[in-house]
Amino acid sequence: MWRLPLNFVTAILLLLCVATAAMWVRSHYAKDVYQHFRLYQASDSFRFVADMIRSDDGVLAITRWEDVGPQSAIPAEAFADMQKRAGWSVNRPPTIYIDVAPNAIGFDYQRFEWNAAVLLPTGPAPVTGDGALALPYWCIFSLLAVLPLWRLVAWRIRRQIRASRIRRNCCPNCGYELLPTYDRCPRCDVPCPFGGAENT
Ligand SMILES: [Zn+2]
Repeated sequence: MWRLPLNFVTAILLLLCVATAAMWVRSHYAKDVYQHFRLYQASDSFRFVADMIRSDDGVLAITRWEDVGPQSAIPAEAFADMQKRAGWSVNRPPTIYIDVAPNAIGFDYQRFEWNAAVLLPTGPAPVTGDGALALPYWCIFSLLAVLPLWRLVAWRIRRQIRASRIRRNCCPNCGYELLPTYDRCPRCDVPCPFGGAENT
């Protein structure tokens, strides 16, 4: 009953594993930035929300940078630039590249970080709400691989148990000892792998 959905999930996870491995390799050759920028305006105030997924040097980082303030606080050309950037984009230069502050919360991150603060390389900005989560690809890959690996091991074990039951003239399904005259297992009604009718 639950085997089919579990197989489906395992297949999806395997696909994601392959995709993760491909991205992992790619991250060492190319820097990818997927951006979603939104600009909200109301009378004189504005709110700029930048969501980014960055793939770089073996690490996948998700960052959100939010800037709120009066329009008069920023230069008109900076504002026009924000308007131009709004929307989805992939690797569009020049990218607002937000670097995750190393050890911003004292976590020895070594490519593994959860930060509440980000640094803006373009200079100080009225940053009001930021978050960054950076995960190394090896970590993502391992998490995705747990279920497929566990199922592979379980399948191998099940197969060994079946084989050893058949060797001992027992039902491969439930382990009940079978007589050569039996056609089906008296306990679970599974066809015998030997004897009786040629059920194999
Ligand atoms: Zn049985």
